Amino acid sequence: MNENSYFQETYEQSRALFRTRIDDLREKWDRVALYKWFIGVPQDDNTADVLLADASESPETLLIITSGLHGVEGYAGAAGLHLFIDELFPYVDPKVTGIRLVHGVNPWGMRHRRRVTARNVDLNRNFHKDWAARRKQMPLLYQRRRDLFTPESPLPPDVRYELSATYSDIELAEMKNTPPPQHAERFGLYFGGAQMEEASQKLALSFSDWAAGYKQIIHLDLHTGGGPQGELQMIFNENEVRSAQELEQEIAHPWIQKGDGSVELGDATAVLQQYLMRTYPGKRVVSALMEAGTVPETSDGFLFCSRAMIEEHALSISPDYVSTSTQDIREHFRALFDPKDTAWRREYLRQLYKAYLALFSSEGLL
Ligand SMILES: [Zn+2]
Repeated sequence: MNENSYFQETYEQSRALFRTRIDDLREKWDRVALYKWFIGVPQDDNTADVLLADASESPETLLIITSGLHGVEGYAGAAGLHLFIDELFPYVDPKVTGIRLVHGVNPWGMRHRRRVTARNVDLNRNFHKDWAARRKQMPLLYQRRRDLFTPESPLPPDVRYELSATYSDIELAEMKNTPPPQHAERFGLYFGGAQMEEASQKLALSFSDWAAGYKQIIHLDLHTGGGPQGELQMIFNENEVRSAQELEQEIAHPWIQKGDGSVELGDATAVLQQYLMRTYPGKRVVSALMEAGTVPETSDGFLFCSRAMIEEHALSISPDYVSTSTQDIREHFRALFDPKDTAWRREYLRQLYKAYLALFSSEGLL
């Protein structure tokens, strides 16, 4: 497949193309299937689609790649799935390796080019079991400018100025790369939900089923927008048993990070990893979030990001709440999460290819 066709413009196009790739799985594995689950009512036809293949002889390693947890990031994520099928398949041994490729974990968000779900939930802050204490959680960071984050009237005309007058670069960097969730205001930005959402539950249950027959599980979750422009961060969490230094020694990738406190944030990758490790104490579980940067880590880049997030959120509540044009708001949001720029796309695929190779070879998969 030509790499230009990896990036589709609509959710339907992206899903249709993804579904055709079952033929590529058939060429390699005997036991393949296309599986889907609906999010929301079936009439809306929002599905998460999974290409499954199971090891033909003795199952050793299950490789799971998920995309579109943040809906709009699902376009680059789908490209990453095609890249895996076209470029990594030759290296994978179907006798011992199973795969699960997941398109559109948040299909409504992908369809509408939004990051959140139809219920305004950031799924990467939604993976919690215990909700009682959490439902009042509202970080001071957002309380200080509730008028921006939970607007109930038009935003101030110059959002960028308001942000620069209120927040330090460190705070703006946090909002760009690891925004803390709030669980108190369902119409507010960075809402992590008040319960575990349907999309989160269905993914978690599938993970448990899928992992059962394998000794080792490797999970990658594809994202865009965080980290420095032009870099692909491979982000491990506190469940990873190796230190950051050990990871750097074992995996030939230039941008490795190890986060802390990801479970407490309700981060999907971290909580799913912990869940698998507790369900299957004998299995090796390795999980990483892949984050492709789109804007520079400068004051300008941080301000661009928060302004784009705030205006896109306010626009979703009411077009009367924004003074920037709808077209500009959509373009800013797109530049942040699904850049159209050919050079960016090519570099993203190049780095993702190298990252796949580096991680899979360090795990003995290639
Ligand atoms: Zn994301």
